[in-house]
Amino acid sequence: MRGLLVASALVAAAGCAPAGPTTRGAAGARTDTGPALCHASGRPSSRLELAVLGSGGPRGFGRAASSYVVFIDGTARILVDVGPGAFVRLGEMGVDFRALDTLLLTHLHIDHTGDVPGFVKSRDLTFDEPLSLRIFGPRGGGEYPSTTTFVDRLFGARGAFAYLPTFRNELRLGVTDLPTQPDAPAHEVLREGDLRISSIAVDHDDVPALAFRIEHAGHAVVVSGDLASRNDNLARLAGGADLLVYDTAVLDPPGSPKRLYDLHTSPRRIGEVAAAAHVKSLLLSHLPPAVDRARDEVLKSVRSTFQGPARFAEDCLRIDVTAP
Ligand SMILES: [Zn+2]
Repeated sequence: MRGLLVASALVAAAGCAPAGPTTRGAAGARTDTGPALCHASGRPSSRLELAVLGSGGPRGFGRAASSYVVFIDGTARILVDVGPGAFVRLGEMGVDFRALDTLLLTHLHIDHTGDVPGFVKSRDLTFDEPLSLRIFGPRGGGEYPSTTTFVDRLFGARGAFAYLPTFRNELRLGVTDLPTQPDAPAHEVLREGDLRISSIAVDHDDVPALAFRIEHAGHAVVVSGDLASRNDNLARLAGGADLLVYDTAVLDPPGSPKRLYDLHTSPRRIGEVAAAAHVKSLLLSHLPPAVDRARDEVLKSVRSTFQGPARFAEDCLRIDVTAP
């Protein structure tokens, strides 16, 4: 039987406000076939690995927008956000996503969700079997739909891509809306054997937004999503993590447009949160051109408050979380 299963049920996406002009900056060499790191490579052997599919967004300047794939025991199992361009990077890296069964959405801005339809269709056409995908994202609020409604408006009976559930393979999409109240404690999203995923609400102005922690084999990676970090929620979720992937979309004030500080975290504050959480390493991602151009200054600011290793993300960068 073909059909679409959506577990529970609401609206649309905006985009993170960009900063700075659109030049590519000193982001690393590119080739005619994409970033230098992007090539089909062997199956990872680590028990927990993170690959960056998109380190930029929302502007198009050579980086895909926010997206990460997490490998558990060498198998791609989890996608965290699917921003525009992630679909291309998956193919360039030769990621086998047959067993990828979990999609975590930090929030419903376009630069974090724009490639959801492309990923789902690609998965449907690549393998001749039902597509089972569990999707976790924020509850709705303000002008933002719940994740359930978002998915329903894509693939439901009245959705933009209503054709897909009867196009080829059965779609089995189980959607769960996660709590986003600022004072809610960390929420256990799922526990499955040695794999544990938890979430916490983060402050991204009026956008319902989450950070996620993925733990396996005694190691942990945390992805911040977008946030201004005015509260300590991310530090609470990230305590002791091996790797913290942090939204680095602005310069220290007053280097970026004022309104962006309601949405994103300054480099200095990134260092403070990483230090408070005692994370082992830091990956700076979601990079706009202005940050890309000011890498030395940004890193200096982060390191003024965080003494551990910190580096910038690149599309297709792979990190062994057990030894970051
Ligand atoms: Zn955002």
